[in-house]
Formats: sequence, structure tokens, C-alpha cells
Amino acid sequence: MKIHEYQAKELFRTFGVPVPDGDVAFSVDGAVDVAKGLGGYPVVVKAQIHAGGRGKGGGVKLAASEAEARAFADEILGMTLVTHQTGPEGRLVNTLLVEAGQEIAKELYLSLLVDRATAGIVIMASREGGMDIEEVAATTPEKIIKVRVDPLTGIQGYHLREVGFGLGLPEAALKPFSVLLKNLYTLFVTNDCSLLEINPLILTRDDRVMALDAKVDIDSNALFRHKDLLALRDLDEEDPLEVEASKFNLNYINLDGNVGNIVNGAGLAMATMDIIKNAGAEPANFMDVGGGATSEMVENAFRIILMDEKVKAVLINIFGGILRCDVFSQGVVSAAKKTGIRIPVVVRMEGTNVEEGKNILAESGLNLINAVDLKDAAAKVAAAI
Ligand code: GDP
Ligand code: MN
Repeated sequence: MKIHEYQAKELFRTFGVPVPDGDVAFSVDGAVDVAKGLGGYPVVVKAQIHAGGRGKGGGVKLAASEAEARAFADEILGMTLVTHQTGPEGRLVNTLLVEAGQEIAKELYLSLLVDRATAGIVIMASREGGMDIEEVAATTPEKIIKVRVDPLTGIQGYHLREVGFGLGLPEAALKPFSVLLKNLYTLFVTNDCSLLEINPLILTRDDRVMALDAKVDIDSNALFRHKDLLALRDLDEEDPLEVEASKFNLNYINLDGNVGNIVNGAGLAMATMDIIKNAGAEPANFMDVGGGATSEMVENAFRIILMDEKVKAVLINIFGGILRCDVFSQGVVSAAKKTGIRIPVVVRMEGTNVEEGKNILAESGLNLINAVDLKDAAAKVAAAI
């Protein structure tokens, strides 16, 4: 789960990671009030969306006066901000962060992430902060420092020194940087983060270090033990169909194609997507109703897929195990009766109670296309499109 920069910076404050003074605002007047309270100019007006690259897209502005702060707040609030991370459709800005402007001596990069390959937490840092780190990694990988921390023993003095020296920090900044990094590590572990990124981390002219930007990603599987963090979830930043699916414990991801598919089991869902592509069509989603789905879950899954206007045909691919085929069919029939189906639906079903399942579908009067196996199903759905 991603959180906003202003929320991440609140966490930083709690854990003793220095950030500029500032506050969140939801209106132009609110933003001006925050600016007035900061005790001087320049102030920075920043769009709060769950995507980076806001600076280049015009979502981060340095204001030299109250009049400018008002003008920038007015310009950014309500804009559709397009960055390389939002896609061409952009993201509507509802929230601003207004901060005291900082004098930057150097922009650095610092991040922490869970590294599956080494089963550790990796600290990444670079002197080349502020710009696209992906580009630094691609063109000059030697400029990225990587230090692995064993989660069992935690962060040690030598880790802190290795990163601090690697960043070429001046003597006076080494101690404050070590404190910052140690606190950041504690924040990361305490909150079950999967990614934490500061770009840029700045060095000020008086040798202080400070997080100017903050990106925090929290492991969704750990949210059950972080009710405080769960409250930071911003549904406006998420795909509405994915939000709807999450209410019913459905594993659903919206994609670009036009063949909706409902499958039980993640592996089967992946294979089904492959076979749809193989047949020359494009999947519109990943939808795993799970091995133990109830007919109510199936009904909701089908309803959500039919809500997606891109979907021009549906492929249902079920292997009845714990989820029996008759239970599944009842879900399909009840969703179809409530929503009405105006597009072709191809069904491939095997496994427990398959005959009962097929009978329920046949007697429902629904206009379904039966497939004998996976390959046949994919060909039929591609032809239907
Ligand atoms: P991003 O573009 O979404 O990553 O947003 P950032 O928060 O990283 O801001 C983009 C850039 O704005 C930074 O790299 C800085 O160069 C600049 N910036 C942000 N805050 C300040 C500030 O207080 N003072 C100055 N001079 N520049 C700032
Ligand atoms: Mn940034």
C-alpha cells in the first residue's frame, strides 16, 4: 500500500528523520495559511499523488511570496498531473503539501528495500540524487552503493559508515546522517515497509541532512497489524474496480485488453492469460476468485468484470476442487440474472461436480458458449471478440 508524501513525512517526524517544516492543505486558502505559518519565503507547493516525477510535470513549485504561493496552489490543486509514472491519463490533484523552502547544497538518493535474492534489507544510496535513479542505475551503475543488512542482527555502525562514506558526506554531516539512517531503518522494520525512498535527500549548506521527498510502500499483507497505517489508505488513488474487488477478497488486477476472465487459482489465472494472448486476444484483467470461493464471491467477481467497459467477451475457466463446479455455476447464474449479460461468455469447466455445474448453466437459459478444453476456450473467446 502506498501512502502520500505528507503522510510519509509525518512518519519520518515520529521516527526522528529530519524533514522540512510544513503541512497538508486541501484548499487554496488552506495552503496560503500553511505558507504564512512557515515564517518566511520561499515555500514549496507540492502536489500529493501516489506517483513520482511531479517536479518535471509541474506539480512542485517554489514560491517566493504569499502571492506566488496562492497562485501555485490555485494552479496545482485540481490539475490533472501527468508524470512518467501516472500514464498519459494523469492523476487529479486533491491535496497539497506546503513546506519551508530549503537551500540545497547537494541532492542525494537514499532508499531501503526488501531484497528477496539475498533475504535481507538492502540500503541503496547515490551521490546522483534528484534525477531519475533508474537512469543512473542503467547508465552508471557504479554510482549506486548497495549495502545489505541482515534483518536478524539489524543495522550496525559499519553499515551506517559504509553508506555515509560512500555518499562522500563532509565530516560534520556524518553523525547526523548516521542517526537519520538508523532511524529510517527502525521506521522501515517497525512499519513492515516493502520500500522506502528519499529522492532527494539533501545536504544543506550548514551540513545538515534532510528528506526533501518521501515515498513509502507498506507490505499489504502486514496491514492487519498496523491499523494506524491502514487509515492512511487513499482510495482515490486506486483503481475503482480493484477497490471494489478487494471488498470481497478477490484477487483482481485491471489490465488493458478486452477479454475478461474469471479463474480459480493464481497459477491457472496466469496460464489462462497466456492462452488468451496465444489465441491472438488480450486479457482485460487478472481475476483469481481463489480455491475456496463461495458462490457469492463468484457472483461479485462476475459483476465486477461486467462493470468494466473495455470487456467485450468473458472467459470462465474453472477447475473445481475445493470450489465445486455447481457452487461456481450458481454464482455465475445469479450474477448474470442481476446484471444481465450483453457480451459472449465462454465457459470451460472441469473437476468436482462438473456435471451438476454444467446442468445449472444449461438450465439457466443463459446464452453461454461451452468449451471442451483450455485451447478450445481460448479459440472460442478470441473468435467471439
Ligand atoms: P518528484 O519530482 O515527484 O520526485 O518530487 P520531489 O519532491 O523530489 O521534488 C522535485 C524537485 O523539486 C527536487 O528534486 C528539488 O530539486 C526541488 N525541490 C523540492 N523542494 C525544494 C526546496 O525546498 N528547495 C529547492 N530549492 N528545491 C526544492
Ligand atoms: Mn523525488
